[in-house]
Amino acid sequence: PELLLEVNGLKKYFPITGGLFGKKVGEVKAVDDVSFFVKKGETLGIVGESGCGKSTTGRLLMRLIEASDGSIRFEDKEITRMSKTELRKIRRDIQMVFQDPYASLNPRHSIEEILEEPLIVHGIGTKEERKKQVREMLEVVGLSSFHARRYPHQFSGGQRQRIGIAKALMTKPKLIIADEPVSALDVSIQAQVLNLMKDIQKEFGLTYIFIAHDLGVVRHISDRVGVMYLGRLIELSDSEELYENPKHPYTQALLSAVPVSDPDIKREIIMIEGELPSPANPPAGCAFHTRCAFCMDICTTIRPEGRTVDGHYVACHLVNDVDAAQVINNKKEN
Ligand code: SF4
Ligand code: MG
Repeated sequence: PELLLEVNGLKKYFPITGGLFGKKVGEVKAVDDVSFFVKKGETLGIVGESGCGKSTTGRLLMRLIEASDGSIRFEDKEITRMSKTELRKIRRDIQMVFQDPYASLNPRHSIEEILEEPLIVHGIGTKEERKKQVREMLEVVGLSSFHARRYPHQFSGGQRQRIGIAKALMTKPKLIIADEPVSALDVSIQAQVLNLMKDIQKEFGLTYIFIAHDLGVVRHISDRVGVMYLGRLIELSDSEELYENPKHPYTQALLSAVPVSDPDIKREIIMIEGELPSPANPPAGCAFHTRCAFCMDICTTIRPEGRTVDGHYVACHLVNDVDAAQVINNKKEN
């Protein structure tokens, strides 16, 4: 399939200011040289602990915040250089679903008003057409038109997320960036919302970027999955390949914590040692080296380049630089 989105060398550095005059004293590399693509109609999962830069990446793609460097191409248009007018148009095509739908639903507005708003903002349809579309969309997400006159507080968490999804769908977008859309929901409700998102994807030919902190959640919805650690993309591949053959020690550790449904599959639990380092002061070399069970000398000084073999991207000296790893291991033995 064609590419919908192509991200290259994306960076977002936030300045840290301090002292009497608020001078810049450092920076947080929230997103540090991240590259990936998304094909039309697929779901790309992005996974990592909080502070790894996954939400910042999502917001950069919609240009809710400005990138420090890098390129974001959406259907051959460069998002980072768009004028305000072009950006308004693109925001019909890219929509977001948030973790806490309640925070993005105005409590004083009825569901009808909330769902109609994106259409008004983008000047879509007559009043009558908009009302009709609101009612249709409520049905699409498994609610009904009699809910239109109610207010957000009258709904359960799962229903509110359905409303959040309906709101994102109103402008008929091509890409939906869902930032932990089920993390705040009960496990039983999570599956319902995930299934709804899958059905809608088929029905409307949508492309998803699905952000989560847990590899278990994205497994069944994602075609490919990327793993981030301290602002960097450390591994990305087809879902099945990633879950069956994780190569990066961090991914292996994350996966070992995911319960497997098949009792025949036994995974060794790999503990991730120590605390997540501060993103303001990440370790030199491989950012994961302070917690990696396989850390070698080279890891503490040289940042591993990412390499893609058969569509499987990994940034780890152990995996990518067999020669270097060999030399160092030999040295250790002597
Ligand atoms: Fe571990 Fe080194 Fe690979 Fe980093 S580069 S994950 S420290 S083996
Ligand atoms: Mg987040």
